[in-house]
Amino acid sequence: MTDEKLKQEQADEEMINQAFQHLLESYLTSKHRRKVEIITKAFNFAKQAHKGVKRRSGEPYIMHPIAVAQIACSEIGLGSTSICAALLHDVVEDTDYTVEDIENLFGPKVAQIVDGLTKISGGIFGDRASAQAENFKKLLLTMNDDIRVILIKIADRLHNMRTLGSMLPNKQYKIAGETLYIYAPIANRLGLNKIKTELEDLSFKYEHPEEYAQIESLLKETKEEREELFREFTAPIREKLDKMGIKYRILARVKSPYSIWNKMQTKHIPFEEIYDILAVRIIFEPSDLEEESNECFGIYVSISKIYKPHPDRLRDWVNHPKSNGYQALHVTLMSNKGQWIEVQIRSERMNDIAEQGFAAHWKYKDGPTQEDEGELEKWLRTIKEILDDPQPDAMDFLDTIKLNLFASEIFIFTPKGEIKTMPQNCTALDFAFSIHTFLGSHCIGAKVNHKLVPLSHKLQSGDQVEILTSKSQRVQPSWINFATTAKAKAKIAGILKREQRAMVQTGEDKLQEFFQNEEVEWNDENIQKLCDLHELATPEELFAALGFKTILLGEADRNELKKDKPATGSGWKKFIPLPFIGGKANKEKKEPRQKAPKQKIDSKKVLKLTPDAFQKNYIIADCCKPIPGDDVLGYIDDQDRIVIHKRKCPLADKLKAGFGNRILAVEWETGKALEFPVNLYIQGIDTLGILHQIGDIISEQLNVYIRKIFIETIDGLFEGHIQLYVHDVEDVNVIIANLQKMEEMKKVVRVEQFEDKP
Ligand code: MN
Repeated sequence: MTDEKLKQEQADEEMINQAFQHLLESYLTSKHRRKVEIITKAFNFAKQAHKGVKRRSGEPYIMHPIAVAQIACSEIGLGSTSICAALLHDVVEDTDYTVEDIENLFGPKVAQIVDGLTKISGGIFGDRASAQAENFKKLLLTMNDDIRVILIKIADRLHNMRTLGSMLPNKQYKIAGETLYIYAPIANRLGLNKIKTELEDLSFKYEHPEEYAQIESLLKETKEEREELFREFTAPIREKLDKMGIKYRILARVKSPYSIWNKMQTKHIPFEEIYDILAVRIIFEPSDLEEESNECFGIYVSISKIYKPHPDRLRDWVNHPKSNGYQALHVTLMSNKGQWIEVQIRSERMNDIAEQGFAAHWKYKDGPTQEDEGELEKWLRTIKEILDDPQPDAMDFLDTIKLNLFASEIFIFTPKGEIKTMPQNCTALDFAFSIHTFLGSHCIGAKVNHKLVPLSHKLQSGDQVEILTSKSQRVQPSWINFATTAKAKAKIAGILKREQRAMVQTGEDKLQEFFQNEEVEWNDENIQKLCDLHELATPEELFAALGFKTILLGEADRNELKKDKPATGSGWKKFIPLPFIGGKANKEKKEPRQKAPKQKIDSKKVLKLTPDAFQKNYIIADCCKPIPGDDVLGYIDDQDRIVIHKRKCPLADKLKAGFGNRILAVEWETGKALEFPVNLYIQGIDTLGILHQIGDIISEQLNVYIRKIFIETIDGLFEGHIQLYVHDVEDVNVIIANLQKMEEMKKVVRVEQFEDKP
């Protein structure tokens, strides 16, 4: 061994020991029991198992499990079993040791968690949607077995995101996409608010480095201003709280770059128009745990004497915690500078729960109790119910689950005055299913605050809802369109599928009887004849249509079966397309698959798009309509064509998460040779000849071709859309800048879609 190598090894050894010592120290300051011995044993075992292996960054591999254990310990608040499992989490996956070995050395609990982690180690997402749904299901099932599996998985993901810089770009997209799509929502659902925010910010940073940097620098520029506002706003509050003799601290909460960006995107507003970047947090030590909630309200009352509270924006998560355990009192106050500022009032205990999720409950008791796990258990039960009713389409399944992960919550009252938490934007139908499947499936309408409403009625927080049922009511296919919760959607789809299966059987019986009466042989060829006649893709669809009586057997079928020639496909039809039966599958089968020339695509390289490459295998995604100069990525579709999406396109997010291995990093130059359509949204003050002026600027001054324009004026304001042909983003920016020079023009933004209605 050379001197240098030896030195390196010694340095590594020291780094490893330091990291482990730090872990032990953090563990010993926690309120868990002192099980240093088994943790040390796990560390030594993992270190020896990963010996000689390095991460991409060049660090010894063991640094990763130590970091994951550190996160599990100090950022999630887990105990020795989890710390051991975190230290050992990659041993079974990456070395020759088995789960049995772990069990023999560390007992069944640690082994069970490591086993769970190994099962989901390949990431959630495979190359095919079906594999991905399978993996996802596995992940959710492990969550049911032992919630610590997913908590450690989140710690693992957080460390991987923190060290993502050393990965290949296409891997970065995949991992960042997956993180945003699934891990951040799960972290949120489990109440790990701090980790959720960091995961989102890191994903954002890798997916949109420029936008991230821009927001960071804007935050820096406005920092002083915000601090001044904070000082001024909180000074009288501090005075008041001091007088009341409360032990407290006041913090400024600054909105995360990702949330800011998200708001800019969804609301089409610039940074300057986001008014809730600063919020104020009052965290107090209650004089007595019993008095905690009263003291929250006491603080609220006293500070709302200083500043006027917004009448509609008091959120009482103290008496009605969110289902991830979050508790706080939110109130919005008018500052002396005329700005609304949200103030969040919480006790130290509530603050711990807000940051570390339900794991923090354990700090305040000897261990998890029935009561603590109530809400979480309920949620896990919902997940399990969805898993028991498998969805036919894997991507739908993921979306359904995600609905449940993301939703913010509102309160609904039952007729007896009980409170239920429901996701925002839920309908009366969702509420019915949330109470009981029977209530949902037989529901005919609802009374909201004593007024009769349809099932599709959207509920508001505070509504009192009574569900009306009828025994003869059955689940309708159209319900799927206005069910929004995962549970209702899954139940409706499940019931319809069962009904369809029954109808397929009925239809098949009917057809057999018909064949018998007509003395036609029961074979595939004859059945196919009728499929063709009714333009249905499969025998199953034919049976279902017969079962549901959307087609009836008659003269035409008789003729079809008795003539020798194959059907011409014209003429007699009596088919009403049914959701779930005809439609999509049908079309896909009939369209001949285009054969594109096969080419080897190296996903590790950055792909360069040039004007002539364009005519060949590239497709511009219609959903986000990217043009040269946008941040884009490529997705290799089933026919080996490359579909170009904007990196921030929601569909691209889904693809990144779902088909990470098919994502290409892309650089796009056109050299002003080709033109692409873009859409602009404009808004301003209507004056005589405004349309002419706009046209003049675009066509005359800039020599750009306007393809479509639609403008509407209401009460002296105009708004509308313009579609133009441009070369690249540079063109668009020039046009926007020129339009903005018009005095009447108040807003010009590039948007995805052209709309010819207001
Ligand atoms: Mn790992």
